Amino acid sequence: MKKVIFLGMATAILAMSSCSTVPLTGRSRLSLVDDTQLQQQAAIGYAQLMSNPQTKVVSTTSANAQMVKRVGQKIAAAVTQYMNQNGYGDQIANYKWEYNLIDSKEINAWCMPGGKIAVYTGILPVTKDEAGLATVMGHEVAHAIAQHSAERASQMTVAQGLGTVVGVASANSKYADYINAAYGIGGQLTILSYGRNQELEADKMGLAFMAMAGYNPTNAVDFWQRMAQASSGSQKPPAFLSTHPSDAARIAQIQKDLPEAMKYYKGK
Ligand SMILES: [Zn+2]
Repeated sequence: MKKVIFLGMATAILAMSSCSTVPLTGRSRLSLVDDTQLQQQAAIGYAQLMSNPQTKVVSTTSANAQMVKRVGQKIAAAVTQYMNQNGYGDQIANYKWEYNLIDSKEINAWCMPGGKIAVYTGILPVTKDEAGLATVMGHEVAHAIAQHSAERASQMTVAQGLGTVVGVASANSKYADYINAAYGIGGQLTILSYGRNQELEADKMGLAFMAMAGYNPTNAVDFWQRMAQASSGSQKPPAFLSTHPSDAARIAQIQKDLPEAMKYYKGK
């Protein structure tokens, strides 16, 4: 019993001393797991996924792949400028942005730690236009910039006790397992799901990022309404929607966040 209390306290102390600040929202996040190590594993996992013959990467000469790259580059440039100008440059110093469109019916998109982005063709009818795509990509980039994957891994580490903290810190293969499982690499089922608060934070940051990149953030409301519609007809909700519930509460919060995001929008 005493040992359990001691471990609990030690974990709490370690947790308190291992926090960092989320850019833009200023929230203090638990960071027992180092994001730069996740970035290294993500780069390996991303390369594996893109070179796997089963992954149908859309040719970079296609108009849609070029749109993904164009939107991605604008968001990356805006985010990089914001981070550098606000004292967060070290958090993205090792980012090597990549943007790929994958031919798949799946309604999905994600951005790994380190800026490795995948958009699935299945989501394009819902994003509809470039501003819709910027909504999705801004949101996914926000998850990466907020280090939500590392935060999830940190929370799992605390839940599993102090022993695992040491174990995780010393074993790169555990990071690899985590990344592979989270993003569905190597035939594994995607298990990545962020918490509700992380989703709302990514929405808020994503709005600001798309605005900084020159896209009117009011388009985000239209996108999430289309997303809600896309799910209403089908019995099995799309992968993206099961992890991103497009309910009235989410859209209402986005509308509340809009005035602040508009400050970053110069109507380029
Ligand atoms: Zn999300």
